[in-house]
Amino acid sequence: MSDALFRSLDVIEPGALVVYHGSIGSHHGLWLALPCLCLNCARADELGVPDCRFMLIDPWGELSGPHHVRRESITRSSACV
Ligand SMILES: [Zn+2]
Repeated sequence: MSDALFRSLDVIEPGALVVYHGSIGSHHGLWLALPCLCLNCARADELGVPDCRFMLIDPWGELSGPHHVRRESITRSSACV
């Protein structure tokens, strides 16, 4: 199994430390990820957006948030917590 394929199958557990690398450059970095069930994300599901949405929380509480991102925008961090 290739590395990339393995990573694409990687499961994000609730509360996992993840790296955000999506379109919002100022948010790149480490976050805590939780599955998001807010109205906006539920709405995205209804509209047929296939990605499972995640809520990003700043582990240090210094940045605004939470932010709602697509699964493909985050990767589980290899750093241990
Ligand atoms: Zn949401």
